[in-house]
Amino acid sequence: MSGAANRIDSHKPLQDLDHWEEFLKDRYPEPEPELVGAGGSAEGELQKEKTWKRETTKFRDYRAEARPSVKEFYRLNHANQTLDFVMSKRREFLSLNHRRMGIWEAMEYLNTLVDDSDPDTDLSQIEHLLQTAEAIRRDGHPRWMILTGLIHDLGKILCLWGEPQWAVVGDTFPVGCAYSDKVVFPEFFPLNADYQIPAYQSSTGIYEQGCGLDKVYMSWGHDEYMYNVTRDYLPTEAQYMIRYHSFYAAHKERAYTHLMNEKDREMFEWVRKFNPYDLYSKGEDRPSVESLRPFYEELIAEYFPPVLRW
Ligand code: FE
Ligand code: FE
Repeated sequence: MSGAANRIDSHKPLQDLDHWEEFLKDRYPEPEPELVGAGGSAEGELQKEKTWKRETTKFRDYRAEARPSVKEFYRLNHANQTLDFVMSKRREFLSLNHRRMGIWEAMEYLNTLVDDSDPDTDLSQIEHLLQTAEAIRRDGHPRWMILTGLIHDLGKILCLWGEPQWAVVGDTFPVGCAYSDKVVFPEFFPLNADYQIPAYQSSTGIYEQGCGLDKVYMSWGHDEYMYNVTRDYLPTEAQYMIRYHSFYAAHKERAYTHLMNEKDREMFEWVRKFNPYDLYSKGEDRPSVESLRPFYEELIAEYFPPVLRW
């Protein structure tokens, strides 16, 4: 009797997919707004010091603070994302033969993803997408970037096709080369079969120094999938935002620079620009889906055909 209720489902360790993002928000707290423009002054320096202390405390404690389900989620993710696994998922999904639908239709489809969250207090997937897009729009960014905010997480529909959570969300990292200790919970990497393969464990592994991330296989998830669905229709900056928005070790911690080329370095500034909207735009207020819909339908039609291959 006892263990059953507490046992964590290895397919769905997270009660709510958003618990992963809540964990990220704890690990990377929102920078304090008063720091902006405070550069140079003594008070500014003091504030920076305080923030640094607060953030380093957070960094040190992320393991202790993480929910057991989040820890288990990362254990499964790090143990199972081998180069072989990534290659098999790429073969399975990047042929884009699973469905044909438009962007808005995909948003409604993603909205059918039901987890154990509370529908009265938690926002739906569409509401989350609209919040990210609306935050980008409020700050006056270009239309393609608003659109990117709207669609960046649509790859989470992989969950609707029976994929386990650890193969859809989670921080992404390169496979086929040494794991950086800047990836969260690096202590779980020895559980990965690739850890025993010396050719995959040198710093560049199967890649070459400075080869560019386009040649690097990332752990499989909603980012790489969505990049492939939309790459033909969006500017390069948007492609990077979608493809690498969960690559926290690179865009937050600046790890894996030895695999990057000049274009990656330039484009990662855009990934960094995008991240605050992804991570911190999820407020309490419910966006009105029906009143926003005409604006977004028009924006979608500006870049995408009515039907895409998924
Ligand atoms: Fe995402
Ligand atoms: Fe997101």
